[in-house]
Order: sequence, then structure tokens, then C-alpha cells
Amino acid sequence: MEHMYDGVIRSQGTTLVELTKIPIETLKGIGPTRSKGFNALGVYTLYDLVTYYPRRYIDRTRQSPITEAALDREIVVLGTVSEVATRRLKGGKMLVEARLFDGHSRCKLVFFNQAWRQRQLSHVKDVAVFGKLQRFRSDFQMTNPIVDTVGDRTGIVVPIYPMSEKAQVSTWDIHRALKVLFEEVVPKLQDSLPHKVLDEFDLIERDNAFRSVHFADSIDQVVAARRRLIFDELFRLQLTLVARKARYIRDSCGIAHDVTPFMGASLRDESLVSAFLSSLSFSLTRAQMRVVGEIANDMARDIPMHRLVQGDVGSGKTLVALLSMLFSVQSGRQAALLAPTEVLAEQHFLSLSHYLSEFVTRDNSAYSLFQGSERGVNVGLLTGSLGVKRKKVTEQIRSGEIDIAVGTHALLSEGVSFRSLGLVVIDEQHRFGVDQRSVLRSRGRQGEGLDPDTLVMTATPIPRTAAMTVYGDLDVSVVDELPPGRTPIKTRWLSGESEKSAYEHLLEAVRDGGQGYVVCPLVEGSEKVVAKSAVDEFERLRTGPLASLRLGLMHGQMSSDEKDKVMDAFRHYELDVLVATTVIEVGVDVPNATIMIIEDADRFGIAQLHQLRGRVGRGKKASYCYLLSKADREQAEERLKALERSSDGFYLAEKDLELRGEGTIFGTKQRGNNDLKLASLVRDREVVPESRRVAEKIIAEDPTLSFNPELKEEIRELFKDEDIRYLFLG
Ligand code: ADP
Ligand code: MG
Repeated sequence: MEHMYDGVIRSQGTTLVELTKIPIETLKGIGPTRSKGFNALGVYTLYDLVTYYPRRYIDRTRQSPITEAALDREIVVLGTVSEVATRRLKGGKMLVEARLFDGHSRCKLVFFNQAWRQRQLSHVKDVAVFGKLQRFRSDFQMTNPIVDTVGDRTGIVVPIYPMSEKAQVSTWDIHRALKVLFEEVVPKLQDSLPHKVLDEFDLIERDNAFRSVHFADSIDQVVAARRRLIFDELFRLQLTLVARKARYIRDSCGIAHDVTPFMGASLRDESLVSAFLSSLSFSLTRAQMRVVGEIANDMARDIPMHRLVQGDVGSGKTLVALLSMLFSVQSGRQAALLAPTEVLAEQHFLSLSHYLSEFVTRDNSAYSLFQGSERGVNVGLLTGSLGVKRKKVTEQIRSGEIDIAVGTHALLSEGVSFRSLGLVVIDEQHRFGVDQRSVLRSRGRQGEGLDPDTLVMTATPIPRTAAMTVYGDLDVSVVDELPPGRTPIKTRWLSGESEKSAYEHLLEAVRDGGQGYVVCPLVEGSEKVVAKSAVDEFERLRTGPLASLRLGLMHGQMSSDEKDKVMDAFRHYELDVLVATTVIEVGVDVPNATIMIIEDADRFGIAQLHQLRGRVGRGKKASYCYLLSKADREQAEERLKALERSSDGFYLAEKDLELRGEGTIFGTKQRGNNDLKLASLVRDREVVPESRRVAEKIIAEDPTLSFNPELKEEIRELFKDEDIRYLFLG
């Protein structure tokens, strides 16, 4: 067989790993003092140095003489500064002024409230200034421009490195050190990517990329260099994820579940799942059918499933999860559903019990036929606050009397053992790391030594490229269709006087027999955070605008009993309006509720608002969501407008990623561990699937990278993540 991606004679030269072993002070011109300066920038080794990337570049071909530049446009001016002076304005503001001379004409630089500029500009002479050129009386002027110190460097493209005051190293110290490195220490950097890949994806060689990113002759060269280096970063990440996935398969022994009626030639129609499906008062959407089919396909194999189900709010993921768990039950095994909080665990428990109780009462005969017994499918709830009942439930899980156990992640802790666990469903409202998932997975492995299947559900969708990174070790299914009969929710952002109209509409809707929610951000009034507390708000509404209605209050500090009572009353239409905190975010399902008012909506993120809004629009009647907010912050405005515009969770997720950056994707721990220095999952999103394709091909042919020891070494050494390093140690 011809290998595409390995066995190719690779280039000779110094490896990145070798650079990590050489301290910075071995470079000519870097003594103990200067090396301390480099250390302060986080640069200890030659690898740190070559990956200390420029923050930006000055393109001298685009510099403008002041007199020829267009007004009100961003320009770069190279010149010298002089006459730096500080004065204090009326009202206390500090003003620093200086003159910039470009060899022909002059321009005034003005800085407000940047007193430190006085010192900075007094110490330098040659600078590059970015900013908008304006005319002020008869002078040219730039206000608060960006100033880079250029030193005496020549060249067309000048890299500017990130600096810190403390470091005592200048941007040209770095430049000089890199020059010594490339000219005297490293004649050539080795490339760990095969040529075929470089050709296929139009990438330049690594040696060329590292040289060009620091010493470019044109901006085009910088672009090509960055493209290669960004590809490498994303590729290393994808390679570890894909390899991890391959290892699950290699090292594990799964359970071949009975997935009737979804696959195989079996005509046995008395399966539990068939009976359950015929007991439903509706049929599955095409998307649900497809996703359950994908799950069935996985579960039937004796290779453990590792699948993520993504779907918008209300797309019917709970039902998909239940059907998967029933595959396990009809195979004579148990399933566990793990939720991130107790409240959510209770809600899942309720909705599963609801589906199943309907089923057993409606179609007990079909069920008995299947199991040859009178007992229905038993769902059990195990949470920390269970008290004495906990022992009993634990025992029922051990004996197998409970078929489906619902709980928080503590469910897979010590002390709870299953008779025979076939499937673990993880509801990830807040994203777990890859590591946390593997801990859960290993705990799921019980007495028989078989690995249960794993299904991960997300409450809110995340963009495809992000999913490929955060959930890159999983296969992905998408429930991309809502059940029929939903009317789109009309969303309006109101502020000031017009907020009243939301409450008027609520009164009207209740008069017509409808119900509604009022959501407030906090439980108790806090002086620090100017948010309305649910308790205060409840009092205000009860005695004020909504005095004529039946109001209920629900927040996270109430006991489960109290919450259940209120929820039941709302469900049974004994209450018109539920005033609540975000405890109603997930799982609450009352189709008669058609109006939601969210107060201080700017305090919530896009995903959370979308999730909250998903509580209405569940019935046939048109639904409305009012976002009340003054929203003076710019980002809040964009968020609220996005919600007005769209109710598509995938679109909103893209928007959220754009607005907030990758922080939303990686948890803090993961962020620290990933080695993305140049790559951005937002800006470089099209590179993610490309790098994944290469990773998949390489791992398919060579799962342990034994034909590519340099690449293996690179990943092992450059990833700080213990778990990922472990992957390639074997
Ligand atoms: P999600 O968990 O994806 O937000 P749910 O599982 O809570 O969605 O489903 C939302 C509502 O839609 C529930 O009331 C559920 O019973 C109902 N539902 C699910 N699937 C269907 C379907 N195929 N046809 C009609 N209603 C459905
Ligand atoms: Mg299986």
C-alpha cells in the first residue's frame, strides 16, 4: 500500500525540539543581564525565541509623507519625535504633546491620559506612528496614535514585537538575537510535515516560514509564513485529538448493543424501543431519526461510542438521549445520565419519568411482551442531597433494579457501582475538558472490564470549527430541525419608557388564557451589582403592575420541594406568571407559556439568553420574548440585536464566538495548555478542517506515528498537557 503521508524522506536540519533544549544565553551577544530581560518576556530557550512572534509589521511601502496623506484615514508615518511636553488640562486630564517630523513636514501628536508617553517619547527618536491624520486649525494632528519604536532598523517590512516595560529588552534586541540564531546557529530548520501535505495545502516549508515571519521582504511573505505556522499549531492540536480518538478504539473493548428496530436484519418487532416509539403521540423528526440512526450504528458495534449530539434549544435532544438509553436497557444493561447540577438532574429525571410513565400506562402489554415481566423501565435519581434515601438508590443501581440512573457527575464516583453499565450520557451545559471526559469514561468501566458507550449532549450549539477543537475527540451528530408546529418567537429589545409595553402585553396574554415568565439575574439585591433581585422584583410586580395576576416565585436558594411545588402549580395553570432566576434556563417545558420578559438582559450572554428564550415558543400560539435593557455597553448592544435578528442557535453561537473570542471555547485550564500562539479559531476557522483532514490521514496510516518520529517527538515535547503527551509515550 502506498502511504500518502509517511515514509517520505524528510528534510534535514535542526528540529523544534532541539531548540527547546538550548538556553537563550548561549546566543552571541546575550549575557546574564540581557538573558534576564528575555526571561521576563517568557523567552528562555531558542524555541521560545523563534516563536516569539511579531505583534505587527510596519510596511514601509505603505508609509505616507504627511503632506500627501489623505485626511481622516489610518496611515503610518515614519519619522523622528521631538519637543515632548506634558500639561494638565482643566478637569485634571493629562495631555502629552510631541512633534513628529517625517523629513519633509511636521505633525502634532496628542495623547490624552497617557502620562507615561512623556517618558517613552523622551527616550526614543525614530518611531513609526499609526493613526488617523486630522487637520486642526493649520496643523496636522494625530490623536492617541499607536507608537512603535523602530530604532535604526532598515528594511521594507519591520516587525514589531510585543514589549513589556519591565523586560528591559527592546524590539530590536529581539530582532538582533533572531538574526544571530538564523545566521549562525540554525542553518536550517527541519520540517516535520511531508512534502505531499505542503503541496496539497499550498504551504511553505517550515524553515522558510520561521525566517519570513521574522525577516520578511514583503507583507505577502508574512502572510504565507503565518499561514504555515498557524497550520502547524492547529495541526498539532488536531493530531492529538484524532490520535486520542484512535486510542479509544485501540485500547478498549465495547459493548455490542441490541439496537432494534434501527439496524440489522432482525425483524423482531417487539423490541422495547419499537414499543416505546409507538407509544409516543408524535413521530420523530427526520433529524431525530437520522441522529438516533447514527447512535444506533455506533452502539451496535463492540467499539465504544464517543459521540456528541448538538442541537438547538427545543430540537428534542432529551428524546434522542432517552432512545439511546433504551437501546441499552433492551440489551439487558443500564444507562446513566449525568447532569452538571442537581437542579438539572432533577429536571432530566422528571422529563424521563414523564416519557416513560406515559409509555408504561399506554402500552404495558407491548412492554411486558418484551421483558416477559410486569415491571416497567425504572428511572432513579441519585443526588448528593438525597439523604438516607441515597443508600437505597445506590443499592438499586447495584442490583440492576434501576435501569436508568440520573444524577450529577458524582454518579460515577466511588461508592456507586452498576450491575452492568451500557451507556453513559453526559449533559454538558458547561463545557468539560477532554481530560474530564476521559476520567468519566474510565470510571464507567466496571466489573466486566467493558467500556460503556458515551454520548455527550450540549445544551447550546457551538460552531463547527469550535466543536472540532473542543470536541475533536468525538464524532458529531447534529439535530438540525425543530419539531413541527412551532411558531417562531418574536424578540424585541426594549429600554426606558417602552419597557412598560412588555408588561402590558403580558397582562393581555394572560387575559387571553396564556402564561408567561419574568426572568431576573440575581437572587438577592446586591449593592455592588445593580441588578434587580428576583425577590424584590416579585414584590414589586405583585403589588404593582401585575397585581391582578397569580404570581409564583422561583430561585436557586429555594429547596427542591419548594421549587417543585411552584413548578407544578405553574404547569397546572394555577399560576399565570412565574418570576424566576435562571433556574428555569433548561428543561422547563410549559407550552401554554408564550411570553417571556428578561430584565437586565445585558447581564446575560448570548447563549444563555437563547436558552432562556427557548422556554417559550413551545406551543401552537405565537410567542414573544422581551429583552429589557439600557445596554449602554457596546457589546451588549450587539448581543441583544443578534437575538432580535435570529433564533438560530448555530448562527448565534458563531456571533458569540466573534464577539467574545476563543475564551468562550476553551476553559481556563485548556487555554493554558493549548499552544495556539498565532492561530485564532475565529480568524483562521477555515484552517481547522484542513488540519484535521491531514491529521486523520496520518493517524489512519500510522496511529502511533512510528513512521514519523520527528513529528511524534514534536508533539510529545511541545504540548504541556500531560494527558496529551501520554498519548504518544507508548
Ligand atoms: P431539547 O432538550 O433539545 O431542548 P426537548 O427534548 O426538551 O428539547 O424537546 C422539546 C419539546 O419538544 C418537548 O416538549 C418534547 O416532548 C417535544 N418533542 C421532542 N421531539 C418531538 C417530536 N419529534 N415531535 C413533537 N414534539 C417533540
Ligand atoms: Mg457499542
